[in-house]
Amino acid sequence: MSDTANTGGRIVVEGVTKAFGSNEVLKGISLDVNPGEVVCLIGPSGSGKSTLLRCINLLERPDAGTITVGDTLVTDPECDIDDFRRRVGLVFQHFNLFPHLTVLENCSIAQRRVLKRSRAEADEISLRNLEHVGLADKAMDKPSSLSGGQQQRVAIARALSMDPELMLFDEPTSALDPETVGDVLAVMRGLAKAGMTMLVVTHEMGFAREVADKVVFMDGGVVVEAGQAAQVIGAPQNARTKEFLSRVL
Ligand code: ADP
Ligand code: MG
Repeated sequence: MSDTANTGGRIVVEGVTKAFGSNEVLKGISLDVNPGEVVCLIGPSGSGKSTLLRCINLLERPDAGTITVGDTLVTDPECDIDDFRRRVGLVFQHFNLFPHLTVLENCSIAQRRVLKRSRAEADEISLRNLEHVGLADKAMDKPSSLSGGQQQRVAIARALSMDPELMLFDEPTSALDPETVGDVLAVMRGLAKAGMTMLVVTHEMGFAREVADKVVFMDGGVVVEAGQAAQVIGAPQNARTKEFLSRVL
């Protein structure tokens, strides 16, 4: 992967709002992720973190505000959503691998269908990425024979195989057995080192402190505090940030 990491990704979110009925979930969110940066998004459950990620990938349409990814204004109604989506790697809490396909096929299928790569080319790229996440030896296995952490690493290899400009992670380790979390975080740390642009929703404060260039604390649909990890996690200024950190640290 390190040879193919694309540092072209940049995310600019400006004044994004989103309501579901009368529930105002995002109340004017602005944040930037510069090319090659890792930004960790933290905050209590229900604060709108997943909704923001879903807006960035246009799984939800913001009600107002703008989102730019690379040179694409994704909130422009004319934006080619399919073209845009394939430039963004997504890793969720639940990895959604196809159970009837092998690990290798799981990594190759979208490359073949969406990018129109040949089977040979797709499989070669998949194997390279599986090797990168330490799972080349599992290529012919079914996902069900893997641990949760291994399945999540397959999901990361699958996302990388699409040559994304940037990666969005939504609590990638929250559903995992504690003993498999470390290997997933190690892969993510490697990606960060290789220059991948990453926006990561996480409760792993150790990871955020060590890897993030910036930490953004959200609560109640607003950005309460943002800055360098050492500052936001180590010396928070806002009472809500302090209260949240006292519960998760
Ligand atoms: P977080 O990821 O920070 O836990 P979410 O973005 O998942 O927060 O949720 C924020 C709020 O938005 C919650 O009150 C949730 O119930 C609501 N919400 C999220 N998605 C939808 C949806 N598709 N329809 C209705 N309400 C939603
Ligand atoms: Mg969430």
